Amino acid sequence: MEQHNPTHVVLVSSPGLGHIIPMIELAKRFVLQHNFKATVLAVTSQTSTAEKQILNSALTPSLCHVIDIPSPDISNLVQPNDRMVTRLCVMMREAKPAIKSFLSKTTPRPSALIVDIFSTESIPLARELNILSYVYVASHAWFAALVLYSPLLDVQIEGEYVHQKEPLKIPGCNPVRPDEVVHPMLDRSNREYKEFLTTGGGIPLSDGVLINTWEELQRETLQALREGGLLSEALNMRIPIYAVGPLVRQPESETSSVTHSLLTWLDEQPTESVVYVSFGSGGTMSCEQMTELAWGLELSERRFIWVARAPTEEAVDAAFFTTGSNAGDEVAKYLPEGFLSRTRGLGLLVPEWAQQANILKHGSVGGFVSHCGWGSTLESLTNGVPLVAWPLYAEQRMNATLLAEELGLAVRPKVLPSKKVVGREEIARTVREVIPDDQSLTSNSVRERVKEMQQSALNALSEDGSSYVALSHVAKTIERGCGKFDAAF
Ligand code: UDP
Repeated sequence: MEQHNPTHVVLVSSPGLGHIIPMIELAKRFVLQHNFKATVLAVTSQTSTAEKQILNSALTPSLCHVIDIPSPDISNLVQPNDRMVTRLCVMMREAKPAIKSFLSKTTPRPSALIVDIFSTESIPLARELNILSYVYVASHAWFAALVLYSPLLDVQIEGEYVHQKEPLKIPGCNPVRPDEVVHPMLDRSNREYKEFLTTGGGIPLSDGVLINTWEELQRETLQALREGGLLSEALNMRIPIYAVGPLVRQPESETSSVTHSLLTWLDEQPTESVVYVSFGSGGTMSCEQMTELAWGLELSERRFIWVARAPTEEAVDAAFFTTGSNAGDEVAKYLPEGFLSRTRGLGLLVPEWAQQANILKHGSVGGFVSHCGWGSTLESLTNGVPLVAWPLYAEQRMNATLLAEELGLAVRPKVLPSKKVVGREEIARTVREVIPDDQSLTSNSVRERVKEMQQSALNALSEDGSSYVALSHVAKTIERGCGKFDAAF
């Protein structure tokens, strides 16, 4: 019998767990849902132990093929003080020859190239091969709208965005408060801003945009992106927009001894009684803030698991390129005196990095103090866990506003943690708000709303659900090979 080659999609991810993990999850969907062959080209920083672990675990069992492309040496192309987005964009620019070489040699011949938002300069490679290209925004629709609209804001607005008196207007979407713009927009004179505009400006060259959200969560914003004239006004063109999420990391079957003991401890705790505290792959805080957080957890009188990193006064994303690589036993020395003995049995400290998906799935976890990275956010929501929003960098301030003010899925401290130190009383208050004294007696609207969204997410991904159907459209379009004519989206 004649053997048919499977349709082959190649997905390209920039360094960072928040980029690599969602790309692998999308690749798996193409394999499981559509029998495609999917290859993830993961450009890696080579300085993060956690990144290496994730890649290794993605290789077995091999649902999708993951190829590690070590980031080219960019030391001559960036300055020591260049920021994260600059580094990511330069790394992805320099990785283009390796991506091109893979695309031209791999078999079966790829039918589509899918890139993340820091890799849009690779879209022309798809054109050269005459195949379709897509951008996967591993975040939400409001963020996608801001990225797409930012070239227009660049023309419309004079001076720094953060100095504007009025929120920034994006047609059809909620306005963005000046101090909540994405990190690269905080300083327009920094190279990071120009790199951000360039990479965002590349999105319309693609045949479509996939977003890790779902219709029910962001119906109006998705509508604005599609019909509200946003794209046509900004770019004089339309591209299909597909909400394909929430695609999240599932618990790992192989757990470390640390995870094993965390899960055993969780087994002994009451249902939804433990707050999980973690700031993603890169989040760090000052020494003063770490002290307040420790006191806040203690004052809240809630059980906790805290993934803690040694404090730094430098930047809030200091661990981004080195996640999991620093000696963890350092952490305890920065905590208030007696903290560990006073909280013995009540809380556990995990240095640097934890198997988060395994922890969040446990029924004893009832709240998540999170930096609101979109991956962590979705992992929380799909497990029915309400958040305390603690945004630090990237698009996290927007995420926090979306979650707390628009969707009612999180509570947030009164001050922005990236600007001011959040005090211990305030921390205790927010933690107690997501995990009240007696949940059976209290009507907790944040928790109820999160449970509704958990169900809504399940529905979106189930067969005939909106995200399932959207990805099926993409798959069919790839099989047919005619992207921009996908009228349904
Ligand atoms: N993560 C993890 N353990 C940690 C911290 C993060 O497994 O200690 C995973 C988390 O589950 C998520 C990803 O790393 O899938 C982080 O992505 P996210 O978008 O939340 O934030 P980022 O790290 O990009 O800021």
